[in-house]
Amino acid sequence: MDSLLENEDLQLIVDFYVDGERQGPGSHEETGKALKLSGIHPSESLKVADIGCGCGSQTLDLAKLTHGKVVAVDLFPEFLEEVKHRADDLGVSDKISTLQCSMEDLPFEEESLDLIWSEGAIYNMGFQKGLQAWNKFLKPGGIIGVSEITWLKDKRPEEIEKYWTGEYSEMYTEEVKREQMKQCGYELLGSFTLSEKSWEKNYYAPMLKRIPDFLSRHKADEQAEALVKAQETEIELYNKYKDYYGYVFYIGRKI
Ligand code: SAH
Repeated sequence: MDSLLENEDLQLIVDFYVDGERQGPGSHEETGKALKLSGIHPSESLKVADIGCGCGSQTLDLAKLTHGKVVAVDLFPEFLEEVKHRADDLGVSDKISTLQCSMEDLPFEEESLDLIWSEGAIYNMGFQKGLQAWNKFLKPGGIIGVSEITWLKDKRPEEIEKYWTGEYSEMYTEEVKREQMKQCGYELLGSFTLSEKSWEKNYYAPMLKRIPDFLSRHKADEQAEALVKAQETEIELYNKYKDYYGYVFYIGRKI
């Protein structure tokens, strides 16, 4: 999801994304794989926070795959309403609560969480800042699982280098990000690159399908057209340069 538009465009962004099953690349399989790497046993009773949950694809997975309670956190109430509907439909609403607040100002008590999860969202405050700020909420030995856009090669063509460093100031390689995890107080338990399917089939293809409806809801709205254009550019560049970057899941344990 694009973090760079101005405040007044936020409602437009919410409208663009709220019908989507996901607001970033990901899959049920990869959420499950990351959870396995964490070493958490399904029978452990956990207190979990899913930060930047969007409409909650991974929140529901966390509720199904772990024992305990998941707090779904997002800035936008429209997304949290979706999470609630989906949790009802799946019969897991007793395991999920929602919390509307900024990831930069979380109200959790220190050392109160067993697991912090965040898929495709930590970039909104920055990888390192997020990892540092959230560390205190984890119990000693608590687990963090975050997915984050990452360069997959040391050298990149200029066009894509310029595009992504312009979009996000923390574009680094997996090696650098793994090191940053350590510096922020986590032992790295594992990391892996999300599949192309998680971008293409699960994120971009459904997005492209929603565009005509979105544009007809916002006829002659320049901001809406600009948003669509920006997304289309992102997709074109992904198709051209997907070997050079991807989403990587990082799983760590608080030291
Ligand atoms: N985890 C979801 C959503 C990823 S998109 C998925 O993978 O499908 C990023 C999410 O972060 C959006 O839902 C957006 O509303 C949320 N977000 C952006 N800035 C935020 C902030 N400052 N605090 C909390 N959530 C934020």
